[in-house]
Amino acid sequence: MSFLSEINRRRTFGIISHPDAGKTTLTEKLLLFGGAIQEAGAVKSNKIKKGATSDFMEIERQRGISVATSVLAFNYKNKKINILDTPGHKDFAEDTFRTLTAVDSVIVVIDVAKGVEEQTEKLVEVCRMRKIPMIVFINKLDREGKDAFDLMDEVEQKLGLKVVPLSFPIGMGYDFKGIYNIWEKKLNLFSGEAKLKVSKGIVFDDLDNPDLEKAIGKKSADVLREELELIREVYPEFDRTEYLAGNLQPVFFGSALNNFGVQELLDCFIEIAPTPQPKMADTRLVDSKEKTFTGFVFKIHANMDPNHRDRLAFVKIVSGIFKRNTNYLHVKLGKKMKFSSPNAFFAEKKEIVEESYPGDIVGLHDTGSFSIGDTLTEGEILEFKGVPNFSPEHFRYVNNADPMKAKQLFKGLDQLMDEGVAQLFTLDLNGRKVIGTVGALQFEVIQYRLEHEYNAKCTYESINIHKACWVDPDDPKNSEFEEFKRVKQRYLARDKKGQLVFLADSPFTVQMTQDKYPSVKLRFVSEFD
Ligand code: GDP
Repeated sequence: MSFLSEINRRRTFGIISHPDAGKTTLTEKLLLFGGAIQEAGAVKSNKIKKGATSDFMEIERQRGISVATSVLAFNYKNKKINILDTPGHKDFAEDTFRTLTAVDSVIVVIDVAKGVEEQTEKLVEVCRMRKIPMIVFINKLDREGKDAFDLMDEVEQKLGLKVVPLSFPIGMGYDFKGIYNIWEKKLNLFSGEAKLKVSKGIVFDDLDNPDLEKAIGKKSADVLREELELIREVYPEFDRTEYLAGNLQPVFFGSALNNFGVQELLDCFIEIAPTPQPKMADTRLVDSKEKTFTGFVFKIHANMDPNHRDRLAFVKIVSGIFKRNTNYLHVKLGKKMKFSSPNAFFAEKKEIVEESYPGDIVGLHDTGSFSIGDTLTEGEILEFKGVPNFSPEHFRYVNNADPMKAKQLFKGLDQLMDEGVAQLFTLDLNGRKVIGTVGALQFEVIQYRLEHEYNAKCTYESINIHKACWVDPDDPKNSEFEEFKRVKQRYLARDKKGQLVFLADSPFTVQMTQDKYPSVKLRFVSEFD
C-alpha cells in the first residue's frame, strides 16, 4: 500500500465523556465491530471509583489498566482506527487535555438521562477552542431520559455547539423501538432479546412508504414523520466541511450496552472523520503527507514493575514513516536516538512494529530522556506546539523526609513531573519546591510512587496558593515588569522549563495584580502565542 493510502485510511480519535456516560462500553462495542476482540468485557474500565483517594491498590490497578487502554487500534472496512484513551476522572483531566493534542477528532458520549455533565463541558470547551471535529453520541436510549429535542438544545446551549442529528430515536426507555438513521435513510429496529446481534437495517428512502406503519405501528410512524419534518425545518443540512472545521457537530442516538446505534455511528465516522491532520510547530506547519518523519510525545507511562525502571513514551506520528532501529533527533536534547523495540497497539495488546504511519501512536521504551511535549524528527530543528500545562488547583510544599535519600527524591520528582503526574515549581526566593496538582489524589500517588519506585520519602506542608499564573510581560525590559518582579518577589517561582510563574493566593490577588501591572499578562496556561 502506498504511503498516501496508508495515511488516508487512518482515523485517530478520542472518546470523551463524564464518568459513567458509557465511554468504556462504547469503546468495547467499536472494537467488537473491528473483530479486534472476541467478547464483551475485554476492555477494562480505567475508572477510579469514588472514594478511592487512599486506596493504593486501586491506583495501581488503574495505572496498569491505563497502559493497556492508552491506545486501542483496530481495522474496520479497511480503515485503521486508533482510539486514544482519555480518563474521565477529573483528577486526571490534564492527562485528557494532553491526549486531545494527539487526536484528529473526538466522539462525545452523553447519557440521555443525565444530559450534559460537568466533565463533558470542560472537555468539549477544550475541543471547541482547538476546532477539533466532534460527533455527539447520546447513549442509554434503552432507559427513560430527556426528550431528544430538549437534549439537543441543551447540547447547543451548554456546550456551545451547533448540532445536526444524523440519526433519531423512535421512542425511549420501555418504548424504545429503534433508530431512524437519517444519514443512510435506514430504519433499525431494536429487539431487546437479541442484544448482541445487530439487526439488519430496513432501507426507507421514502418515509411515506406504508411499510413504515407495518414496521413500527401507526402511532410511532406518525410521530417519527413529524419529528423528521421538524428536524428538516430546524436543523441545517449536514455539511462535512463545516464539521471538519469544528463548526457543526453531527448527533447520533443509541445504546452502547445493547450495541444499538453503534454501527451507524462507526460507519458514518469512518466516512466523515478527518484523516491525520497537519500540526503546527514553532517554525512552520507540518503536513502529514510530508515524507520525513516527525512526531511528539503526548503521554508517558511508568513501568508497573519497580525492578524495571523504564517508561513508555507515547509518540503521535505527525508526518513521514517511523522506522525501527533508525536514528531520530530528540530536538530538545539535540541528541540522536534509535529505538529497537517500538510498540504498536492492537486492540488491548501491544507488539513490536517495523513501521508506523502518520496518525499512529508508537510506544517507545525510555529511561528518562523524554518528557511530555518533546519532538522527534529526522534532523530538522522544530518543536511541536500545543501540549500546554494548565494551572494546578492544589499546591503543597514538598520536603525531603530522608536526608540520606535526597538524590533519589529529586530524581523521582523529576521523572514523575516528566510523566505529567503533577507540576513542580521552585521558589525564586529560597529554592523551596512546591508541587501543584489537578486533583488531591495525585499527592498520594506521588508519595506512594516515590517510596515504591525511587526508594525516597517526602512530606508535604500546606501553602496558600490559589493559582499558578505564567508571567507574560509585553516588554520584559520595561520598568513596570521590573517593579512587578520586585514587589512580588516572594511569590515568584520557576516551572520545570524555567518559565517565570506568579503564585497567587486568591482570585482577588490575580485581579489586583493584573490591574496594577496591565503590561504584565498573567496566564493560567503555560503556552501562549
Ligand atoms: P464510562 O465511565 O463512561 O467509561 O462508562 P461505562 O462504559 O463504564 O458505563 C457506565 C455504566 O453504564 C455501566 O454500568 C454500563 O453498563 C452502563 N451503560 C453503558 N451503556 C449503557 C446503555 O446503553 N444502556 C444502559 N442502560 N446502561 C449502559
